[in-house]
Amino acid sequence: MMVNNDQRPISDPFESLRSDDLLPLRVVALAGGVGGARLSAGLQAVLPPGALSVIVNTGDDFEHWGLTICPDLDTVMYNLAGVNNPETGWGRADDSFTVLHTMGLLGGEDWFRLGDKDLAVHLRRTEWLRQGVSLTEVTDRLRRAFGVPSHIFPMSDAPVRTLVHTDEGDLPFQHYFVGRRCEPCVIDVSFVGAAEADLPEAAYAALLAADVVVFCPSNPYLSIDPILSVGEMRSLLKKLRAPKVAVTPIIGGKALKGPAAKMMREMGYPVTPVTIAAHFDDVLDGFILDREDEAAAPHMRLPTLVTDTIMRTMEDKIRLARATLDFAQSLLQLSRARKTRVRTGDLTP
Ligand code: GDP
Ligand code: CA
Repeated sequence: MMVNNDQRPISDPFESLRSDDLLPLRVVALAGGVGGARLSAGLQAVLPPGALSVIVNTGDDFEHWGLTICPDLDTVMYNLAGVNNPETGWGRADDSFTVLHTMGLLGGEDWFRLGDKDLAVHLRRTEWLRQGVSLTEVTDRLRRAFGVPSHIFPMSDAPVRTLVHTDEGDLPFQHYFVGRRCEPCVIDVSFVGAAEADLPEAAYAALLAADVVVFCPSNPYLSIDPILSVGEMRSLLKKLRAPKVAVTPIIGGKALKGPAAKMMREMGYPVTPVTIAAHFDDVLDGFILDREDEAAAPHMRLPTLVTDTIMRTMEDKIRLARATLDFAQSLLQLSRARKTRVRTGDLTP
């Protein structure tokens, strides 16, 4: 069901895959595009409708053909609505490219692949933004129209733009990613506007109310870091009582998709999940390693779960989502038990 009317019931595209024992948790996921969207879809399927909030990277956003494009927000929304293109990882299934082709014939820019159905979303978003509607509200209207039961929040209403510092100079994210196909050697990454930006109020409230926070297996430097760089996000995460766990985006020395592993090599880091865990360990309580990297477990400074983390099917996503939430809850119990023992003097603090 695709309606743009807040009064009507919202359909749940994964209803048939749900089991009866939905986990009664409020979960916030931090996500970029493909990896973030995959785990978010699993989380949505194991939680009651509305219990998942996804805070999404907007550092990749840019203006193109006069429109505001938010690639990660759309990837997450399309996955949660079940209308994503599983082959490309971006855009919608069964899309056509008539407009893109025609733009090319007219001498317009055609380096960024935009499908016709996808284009309607960018038109609608841009129309609302020009009327002064916030990106948070626009995103909420769109996800409702797509029948997505979960909340989807941009990391900020104000623009934050990822800038990739490379051996060819500083490149805006899409020029590095699509224009130059991630070929230049990365020296560092920065997020223009992040320090002055704020987490949208609704995303802030979702974090304060969360029982669990999940760092999805997204690119640490291009998808999660921008979210953490917004305003006071890092210190807010440190203050939360909810356990915070991350799923590895690096498996067997490789990224499943995108430049994460290549960037790690170029920035001089060992390409292992240990590097990723160390990168976030000030804001994490636990880390999930893939079975292929089991040998890394003894080198982890954080409590670690080893499990299969590759999500090919909906069943894979659901299994990993359950394992992630069970692991997070076990960490909470562990920390409660520790506190009780410290209080009763069984353990020296
Ligand atoms: P992008 O914005 O589309 O580049 O997507 P993300 O930043 O969300 O995700 C990219 C990262 O997701 C890469 O480092 C991949 O290795 C990782 N990834 C994608 N699919 C999977 C998966 O099924 N399992 C795990 N563990 N990681 C994945
Ligand atoms: Ca992205």
